[in-house]
This record gives sequence, structure tokens and C-alpha cells, in this order.
Amino acid sequence: MNSLASSSKKLNKNKLSHYLLEKEVIMNWSTLKKCILMLVLACIIHIAWLGLDSFILLNPQYWQVVNLDIVRIQFVLNSIFLLILSGLIYPCYVLHDRVWVQRFLPYVAIGIFVISLCQDSYFVGVLSPMTMIAYICLLTVGLVLFKRKIIYIMLIPTTSFLVFSGYLSFIDVIPYAPIFKIDGQLFLNGFWLLSMLYFVMPILITCLILFEILLSQWRHRERLIQHLSQIDPLTNTFNRRRISQSLEYLHQQHQHSPYAVILLDLDHFKSINDRFGHHMGDKVLVAVSQELNHHLREHDLVGRFGGEEFILILKHSSHIKAHQIAERCRASIEALIISNDEGQSIRVTASFGIAQSHHELRPQQLLSQADKALYAAKASGRNQILSGNQSL
Ligand code: GH3
Ligand code: MG
Ligand code: MG
Repeated sequence: MNSLASSSKKLNKNKLSHYLLEKEVIMNWSTLKKCILMLVLACIIHIAWLGLDSFILLNPQYWQVVNLDIVRIQFVLNSIFLLILSGLIYPCYVLHDRVWVQRFLPYVAIGIFVISLCQDSYFVGVLSPMTMIAYICLLTVGLVLFKRKIIYIMLIPTTSFLVFSGYLSFIDVIPYAPIFKIDGQLFLNGFWLLSMLYFVMPILITCLILFEILLSQWRHRERLIQHLSQIDPLTNTFNRRRISQSLEYLHQQHQHSPYAVILLDLDHFKSINDRFGHHMGDKVLVAVSQELNHHLREHDLVGRFGGEEFILILKHSSHIKAHQIAERCRASIEALIISNDEGQSIRVTASFGIAQSHHELRPQQLLSQADKALYAAKASGRNQILSGNQSL
């Protein structure tokens, strides 16, 4: 099967996934939908931490390495935060079309999540790995997902809190990491190390999963944008930008492999528009591009060069081969019958101009030779093929 036919099938599939993905891309979600995502992540993190608090409270052998009162306080506070955070999902979901909800709820939701994190950071130590990793991960996710203004407004009080409470602990006004009985042997305390790992895991895993999703969607969009930037949307053939790139590349490779350029222009196309309407003109353009795709070889390219003008780039092609292919295309366009809604048949022909690559000719010169040949083909009666720089 011709590469362009398969590439156009791929394109149709891509078009579909393009529309599906546009809706699904997290970056394109509304702020409130992103808030729901963040609240769900916050709830998962709090549930995991409540699990650890419960585990400690139910296992007396750990009571000598923690301050039980602080664990209880943390359990209660985390439960309250879990209720508030999960409760905020509801207004984000149900009241999403209210202007005041759109304006203020993101600040409230992110603010409460940040306050809950500050509280936990203080309990486990503001300079602990958990606090540092949570700070970096959530700051990055926040900047990717939300407007910078929201994140910077949250960042300033959070950073001030961490620095100030760290300072107060340093001058012995408040205890450092009050949930642990560390007795100055922080790093020898195996329980501290394991709980640090445990505290960090939910944040790390949820942020990594989110990042992975965001990055794969971003990569997909990059590919899609690159693809769409090279395609003519009506005919699904390559556009002028892509054709120019290919010609430039082939020009550099010319010594290893000669190539041919064919310009073709539909004859009296204006009269098809005038008689049958512009939409039928479009239908003819699509049918002709399919016909061209059908008659080209695997490695040849077809592009739309202008309104009703197409270009064929025949790689590894002699002039004779180019003429044979042009003749196949000419005959198949001549034989093409397109019917309109009233059952009328529309027929069309095309004139062709061929130019064969030459190491002294830049792509632009080659195109102008093909164009001159096309012009001559028009002048000599249309529906025929003429060559620019070679005689057969
Ligand atoms: P010639 O044989 O000399 O090429 O005559 P022509 O009528 O084909 O050429 P002309 O340049 O006079 O008219 C080209 C027409 O193609 C005019 C323009 O409206 C039409 N056209 C250009 N792009 C499109 C398009 O995307 N869709 C449709 N339906 N028509 C188009
Ligand atoms: Mg024309
Ligand atoms: Mg034209």
C-alpha cells in the first residue's frame, strides 16, 4: 500500500485521538477540575498518613520512640483535614459554573491543603526529607497545573512558616519534630528513618504518577502538533512547509540519489466551483489527492502546493520514470468521475510540468522549471505533461 494512503489513514486516526485527547489533556482542564484532582491527591496522602498514625496508636512497642500525645493530635488534625478536603470536592464539582466558586475555591482548596502540609511538616520536622520532597514535588506540580499567581501566593506564607518555625526550634523556643522522641540521635533512630520514608512515599508516588501522565500527554501533543503543522487539512496531503523541507533534504542528498519534481494544476477548476459550488470543488480536490496517493510509490510524496495545484516529489527517480508516473496520474484524473447530490457527473483533467534534479539546481530553481513546464502544458491545450529541463 502507498505510504501516503497509510499515512492519511494514520492521520484520520490521529485526528480522532487529537479531539479525544484535547479534552483529556490535564493541562487543558478547568481550574476547578484540576482542583478536584489535587483534592483527591491530598485525600490519598492524608489517608496514608492516618494509616501510619493508627498503626502507631495500635502498636505499643513504638510508643517509646514517639510522643503519643502528638500522634493523637496529628491523627485528629489529619482526620479533620481529610474531611474538609474531601468535602471541598463537592462544591468544586457541583457549583463549578458559579463565578465566585471559580474565583475563590482554588485559593481555599490549595490553601487548606498547604496548611495541612505545614502542620504535618512541623510535626515530623521542617528540615526533614519528607518536608523537602513534599515542598519541591508539590511546588512543581502546582506550577504545572495552576496559574503561577495562585502558587506564589501560597508559596510565600508556606516558606515563611517553614523558615520561621525552623528558627524557633533552633533557638529552643519550640521543639523540633515533636512527634518523635529523638533524644539527639535522629539518624540512629530506625523508626524515624522508616516513618520518614513512609511519609514521603504517598507524595512522591502521586506526584510521579501525575508527572508521568502530564509528560506523556505533552509528548503526544508535541508529535500531534508537528504532524498537523505538515499537513494540508482539506486533502490530508503534505503542505508547502513540509514539501520545502523534503526538497531541501533531497537537494543535499542529490549526489546519492536523483529525484524528480512534478507540479500539476487542475484544468478550468474555477468553472467546477462556478457550476457545482465550492463544496463540490473541495470534493474534487480530495478525490484528486486520493487518486495521486494511489498512483505513487511507497517513498514518493504528494503535497498541496496551492489552491488546485499539487506537487509530487519522486525520490530515486529518473526522468523517464517520472514521466511514466505523471502519465499514470494524468490518465487516472481524466478517468475520475465525481457525482454531486443531484447525480450530475463532474469530470476534471490536469496539466503537468516535470523537472529532474540536477546538482547545480537549488530546489527553488527546480520548482520554477517545473512551473514553466506546467505553464507550457496549459498553453498547449491542457491535460498533458511537459518537461522542464530534460527532453524525453
Ligand atoms: P487553469 O486551467 O488555467 O488552471 O484554470 P483554473 O480555473 O483552474 O485556474 P484559476 O487560477 O483561474 O482558478 C483556480 C480556482 O481554484 C479559483 C479558486 O477559487 C479555486 N480554488 C482554490 N483553492 C480552492 C479550494 O480550496 N477549494 C475550492 N473549492 N476551490 C479552490
Ligand atoms: Mg487550474
Ligand atoms: Mg492554479
